[in-house]
Amino acid sequence: MSEVHRRPASIGVLTSGGDAPGMNAAVRAVICTAVHHGIDVYAIHEGYRGLLTGGPLIQRMEPEDTDTILHRGGTTLGTARSQEFRTRDGRRSAARNMVDRGIDALVVIGGDGSLTGADIFRQEWPDLLAELVDSGDISADAAGAHPVLRLVGLVGSIDNDMSGTDMTIGADTALHRIVEAMDALRSTASSHQRTFVVEVMGRQCGYLALMASLATAANWLLIPEQPPAEDWAMQMCRDIKAGRDIGRRQSVVLVAEGAHDTHGNPITADHIKTMLEQELGEDTRITILGHVQRGGAPSAFDRYLATLLGHAAVERLLTDGVDTTPQLIGLRGNRVVTTPLMDCVAQTQAVAERIKAKDYDGAMLLRGGSFRQSYKILQTIQQAAARPTPAGRHRFRLAIVHGGGPSPGMNNAVRAFVRLGLDRGYTVLAVQNGFRGLRDGDIQEMGWMDVSGWVSDGGAEIGTNRFVPSGEAIAQTAEQIAAHRIDGLVMAGGWAGYQAAHELHRHRGQYRSLDIPIVCMPMTINNDVPGTELSIGSDTALNSIVADVDKIRQSAVATRRVFVVEVMGRDCGYLALLSGLSSGAERIYLPEEGITLDSLTADIHTLAEGFRTGKRLGLIIRSEHADAVYTTGFLTSLFEKEGGDLFDARQAILGHIQEGGDPSPFDRIHATSLTARCIEFLAEQLESGGRASAMLGFQSGRLQFTDLTSYPTLIDPHAQRPLEQRWMDRRGLAEIMRR
Ligand code: ADP
Repeated sequence: MSEVHRRPASIGVLTSGGDAPGMNAAVRAVICTAVHHGIDVYAIHEGYRGLLTGGPLIQRMEPEDTDTILHRGGTTLGTARSQEFRTRDGRRSAARNMVDRGIDALVVIGGDGSLTGADIFRQEWPDLLAELVDSGDISADAAGAHPVLRLVGLVGSIDNDMSGTDMTIGADTALHRIVEAMDALRSTASSHQRTFVVEVMGRQCGYLALMASLATAANWLLIPEQPPAEDWAMQMCRDIKAGRDIGRRQSVVLVAEGAHDTHGNPITADHIKTMLEQELGEDTRITILGHVQRGGAPSAFDRYLATLLGHAAVERLLTDGVDTTPQLIGLRGNRVVTTPLMDCVAQTQAVAERIKAKDYDGAMLLRGGSFRQSYKILQTIQQAAARPTPAGRHRFRLAIVHGGGPSPGMNNAVRAFVRLGLDRGYTVLAVQNGFRGLRDGDIQEMGWMDVSGWVSDGGAEIGTNRFVPSGEAIAQTAEQIAAHRIDGLVMAGGWAGYQAAHELHRHRGQYRSLDIPIVCMPMTINNDVPGTELSIGSDTALNSIVADVDKIRQSAVATRRVFVVEVMGRDCGYLALLSGLSSGAERIYLPEEGITLDSLTADIHTLAEGFRTGKRLGLIIRSEHADAVYTTGFLTSLFEKEGGDLFDARQAILGHIQEGGDPSPFDRIHATSLTARCIEFLAEQLESGGRASAMLGFQSGRLQFTDLTSYPTLIDPHAQRPLEQRWMDRRGLAEIMRR
């Protein structure tokens, strides 16, 4: 192998630009992965300032140095703006500090400015080294040993404003902060019949404002990509008044900090307040969320995303050749993707340029399909009433039913179903108490305001259970479907819901009324249903687990202790694996793998060795059905006994709190957007006379329908889980991250 194709000598990792929650998880993943491959890794403190200052700001790292950073917000490495790095002299000093330590590969976690700076540095690298040789600062041998600078970029930014990735590190956490604040405001606003104008971050990008609107009941939205029409102020007042007239007790106008009118004049919160007070006499208050949005512990998704990307960054550096264009590592759907770094920067800047040039359609186009789709859905749901139905449109009767355990997001699905259905001119029916209610005819016609206030509530307002009809119940269900003249059915639920929907579909030849399109939408915290890589509700459950594990971690600070934490999931280890990855567990037991005595013995040895060399906390995540014999109690007793004087052991069974709680922003948004797709599916079938039934899900990150007829072929007949579980690909990553 030629000299220049060998692996990087040492890797440096830095965070730069604005801080973002999740950056620490990325740094940890970079360090663990590099050490896993036997490569030295250095943490560079204070961004580029640290790189060019050197000394104690560049520190060699070991995985144990990262034990306490995963759950922390911001960046523990620190970040700083550096004017000096913008100069060639500054970059020369940086190069010298790196060569002195043998660092010739960099993982830069920052925004487009930081990544642009990194690319300039990379291009100049050979010349900078030649200059350092000329000035006698480094030897020719040292320069020769590091002919190229390898570079990968990860985007840390709460704004989600970067091309090349669906999500930037930090955006999901910011959304959590905004949605928490807006839920809190809603209760005070409705107590006083007030209007709130809430300003959120996003100078060039309306992502946070748009998604927060979709996840809360905001009534008006202003984002930079889509300035409102000329008479926006009057339109806004009319819409707020219409909401009041139908009984809304609170109104919220959400404005991104970069919002402006079609002429480019800023629209400020003050301006909006004045308009509302003048025109409507509304008691209006302004809340500018500001830096709160950056703060707090990273969400489960940000920890997972950052871990995935940090790991992929090092893997990429190891395979990059000398001529490789530096890449940005991002996520599309749930796949890690790489895109040339500077293409991403250029594309990102293009959106800002379109906005500046007042080409707003162009800006929306560049933002992508799901941004535009979300904007469209929001416009409908925000209305005070359905639009008049065009003459001649058939008023189909659609029903929604849940099945399986409760899942956060179920109320969002019903809310979206009711409003989007009514807006199409359909009659919408909610089946109470799952398939038992469908059998008994417990079915209610819904109106626009019947779902008011449902956006933030966990649980399932219309009820759910695990009843699966068979025998006589099928005939009774068919009768009720006929009696209520149901033309199409959405089943938003989990395992039992899929079984029930398939049972009805299977009997469509026997009962004419069952020969209707049925669409299943995945809503279960367990993520154990077929036809999808992700189910709604699991994100809320993961956040609940991760928050609890953070507390467990703190409780154990003064002792040397192993915690065995049992999480839900039934026969599916998704929650265990993902929560283990997001909380820094050293061992994760899954039902897919079971537990053996040999593995337990090995784990005890590993734990003992860790505690002997300074470890203070051992974290084990055990999925509830991981093994019938080696229960959580058994494991805890075993570790307690074998830990001797080195460590003690405690168990924490998290239980049903994982199914409860307010739905996370992701679950609210996904519940809403998937429901929209389900209604479209039914509408297409009914309008074309089709009778197909399907399961909607994420496959390779895209929404896809799978024929419901194939349901039995997609599941494990012995265990309650799908045959294909793509998330198991992350098993290896969990092994690298365990310590
Ligand atoms: P962000 O990375 O969040 O966009 P900035 O644009 O402030 O944040 O950039 C962070 C740092 O990256 C700057 O302080 C500077 O050190 C470096 N940087 C940004 N742009 C360049 C550039 N064109 N050349 C060299 N360094 C740059």
